[in-house]
Amino acid sequence: MMRAVVLQGPRKVQIAELPVPTPGEDQIVVQVHACGVCGTDVHIYKGEYLGDYPVIPGHEFAGEVVELGPGVRAFKRHDRVAVEPNLSCGKCRFCGINEQNFCENWRAIGVTLPGAMAEYVLVPVRAAFDIGDLPYESAAFMEPLSCVLHGMQKLDVRYGENVLVIGAGPIGILLAQVARDCGAARVVVADRIASRLALAGEIGEAVNTGGGFGAVEELMPGGYDAVIDATGVPAVIERTIGLARHGGRVLLFGVAPNDAVAKMRPFDIFRKGLHIYSSYTSLRNSVQALDLLRSGRVDVRKLVSHRLPLEQFEHAINLLSSPEGAMKMQIKPNG
Ligand SMILES: [Zn+2]
Ligand SMILES: [Zn+2]
Repeated sequence: MMRAVVLQGPRKVQIAELPVPTPGEDQIVVQVHACGVCGTDVHIYKGEYLGDYPVIPGHEFAGEVVELGPGVRAFKRHDRVAVEPNLSCGKCRFCGINEQNFCENWRAIGVTLPGAMAEYVLVPVRAAFDIGDLPYESAAFMEPLSCVLHGMQKLDVRYGENVLVIGAGPIGILLAQVARDCGAARVVVADRIASRLALAGEIGEAVNTGGGFGAVEELMPGGYDAVIDATGVPAVIERTIGLARHGGRVLLFGVAPNDAVAKMRPFDIFRKGLHIYSSYTSLRNSVQALDLLRSGRVDVRKLVSHRLPLEQFEHAINLLSSPEGAMKMQIKPNG
């Protein structure tokens, strides 16, 4: 038997005893050693998301292979892996044009399938990636970093550019690190939570927007080459247009509530000739993400602010929604 977080319905968390899954063909069982808590888990918790209940959440994870299904040769017991939770069908129109992130038969571990807020989780072999000796805590960032890389590939930050990242949570920090590594001359990271700005200051220039965006504007009076929203807050999204330079680019990365409305003047977008991008999950970015983590080029070690047992899942969800702004919280189902 194993312990798992089971969401029986919106805001109904249960720590359940369930049978350890048995791997079928092309499946492995992974003992979970680190699983990140993210905004998607909050959506699932609050009942604002796609899948059905009951569900075991947890989609940002790494662990040890402990059981192999019949015919599995790509892995052996005790291999250390990180998992790409999004599973595409390979047969629909979107898969056919290599845009698997829009797969019509999309499924995801921790969203529509049992996830990693459990001692053990069932994983299709094709979703598992060998992490070598990368620490589990770092490897659990493979999925969020993949999403960041997908967005940054669209934004295409070029050498010598001035980039603004709004939001200094774990995702904002990753976006800022990648922007700096792409050769940005200047990376400004803004947040209104002072405690989050310490890490931001290690990557670029940290600006506290508690009193508004005046200081952000003063740093680049002509506007930024690229502006990234990593908050999903409509009032912040509304500011991005004004903060970008003429001919500049905006990436809307943060996920807004699904019924939120932001006001923008289309004329401003026209007059500035802006390019506006969005980014939906990731697209085959796991290998890159792991390479970046392994090389230390993207450093996630300081991003983990809480390491919690399974029983603290609901506490973590509440912390994530609190104004204090925790950084990345990880659940350690196996201690
Ligand atoms: Zn996530
Ligand atoms: Zn498909």
